[in-house]
Amino acid sequence: MIAILLSLFLLSSEVEVNQDDSVPDEPKKTEYIEVDNKRFPVEIKDAVIEALAYFPELAGVNIDFEYKEKISGAVMQAQPRMLTLLVTGKEKREYRIKITRSFEFEEGEVLIEDVPHDALVGWIGHELGHIMDYKNRSTVNLMHFGMKYILSNKRLTEAEIAADTYAISCGMGHQILTVKNYILHNENFKESYKSKIRDLYMSPIQILSLQEELKEGEG
Ligand SMILES: [Zn+2]
Repeated sequence: MIAILLSLFLLSSEVEVNQDDSVPDEPKKTEYIEVDNKRFPVEIKDAVIEALAYFPELAGVNIDFEYKEKISGAVMQAQPRMLTLLVTGKEKREYRIKITRSFEFEEGEVLIEDVPHDALVGWIGHELGHIMDYKNRSTVNLMHFGMKYILSNKRLTEAEIAADTYAISCGMGHQILTVKNYILHNENFKESYKSKIRDLYMSPIQILSLQEELKEGEG
């Protein structure tokens, strides 16, 4: 029981680590599009719709895509909504994907919608891969997983590999590879962020070989 309470606390501290949910931190009002229980900002609608098309299993699942000024150590972050995790069944859980509104690049501010299309679709696809992973976990498992995720790099790596694997097996290998290369070969991203991507996430080579494996499995 104490373990569950502790993980609850840790998971909620992860969920609320940056800012208060009730106060949106975007300076101007964002226009959202609502379709199939998903809510997403109009600026990235094409990329979101394209990525969602790869995940028929997420049809009807409630997902909010929300802009944030800053997400510590990440550009996007997928999470189950705490309250729905506790009070509703697995099928009715709701999720959100936090998305950094803009980057401070050398050449100035770059808005998220200015990220090359395939890279943006891949980025969103990776987050949808996390939701596939969350969707298949029981609540207790998700609580424990949340705690371990915070406490160990091994769990973090497992979660990131699971997300990429879901996205790649849904047919997004090309886009997942594109976003990886976009980050790793981009001088504007901090070295600390790139080395996190290098150390804890699937490498381009691993993505390619998984893609190959899946192709072989099909044929
Ligand atoms: Zn991830």
